[in-house]
Amino acid sequence: PQKETTYKRVLLKISGEALMGDQGGFGLHPPTVQRIAREVQSVHELGVEICMVIGGGNIFRGLAGSAQGMERTTADYMGMLATVMNALAMQSALEGLGVFTRVISAIRMDEVAEPYIRRRAVRHLEKKRVCIFAAGTGNPYFTTDTAATLRANEMACEAIFKGTKVDGIYDKDPMKHADAVRYDTVTYDDCLQKNLKVMDASAIALARDNSLPIIVFSLDEPGGFKGILAGRGTYTRVHN
Ligand code: UDP
Repeated sequence: PQKETTYKRVLLKISGEALMGDQGGFGLHPPTVQRIAREVQSVHELGVEICMVIGGGNIFRGLAGSAQGMERTTADYMGMLATVMNALAMQSALEGLGVFTRVISAIRMDEVAEPYIRRRAVRHLEKKRVCIFAAGTGNPYFTTDTAATLRANEMACEAIFKGTKVDGIYDKDPMKHADAVRYDTVTYDDCLQKNLKVMDASAIALARDNSLPIIVFSLDEPGGFKGILAGRGTYTRVHN
């Protein structure tokens, strides 16, 4: 294939809500899952090795459960299980497109997904299988943003691509303020100090300490993921 990108290995992080489509509220919208799978396929075709982390917020969030009286760690485990369902949905959509994948879970469930073994995951990537990392970090009190940063570091990804509804990081919510301004680049410390909505603080700190760039872009743009990898389109790059 034509040299469209210099990236060799990347991690794509999407929230669970991204799989919900515009139906709103809850759950999985298969056409939306398929649309995102095609985005991943188009990058996979370039020969880029792809890791994925998908959130679980479309099904369950630990904080929401604990706010309603559920024990926090139990609620967090439920959230982690939600990410496994999303990972399986993405696996199914990708394999439907002929892209080989592995779902790799941080919580053992051998009938459903492989356990996480770093060297084995690296081998899958080398064989051009898309690795979908499920069940977050396997620990309560964390988020899938932290899981994404952790796995991206472990897999030696060159960057995390965070697909969102908007094409980058703004000084205020662009959905609510017409005069919101997008940053081209922003530092990790800016994100933390200005409390910019990129990822939670522990994820940003983990990225900063390992100089792992975070690229925030819109997944709603058709061809967006491939375009961003080729340096087209608008996005925000978080770096030191
Ligand atoms: N979660 C957790 N540990 C992790 C990752 C996730 O406990 O390492 C739980 C947590 O309860 C979280 C839920 O799983 O609310 C779903 O993940 P997240 O909120 O990150 O999903 P997203 O917002 O990206 O859809």
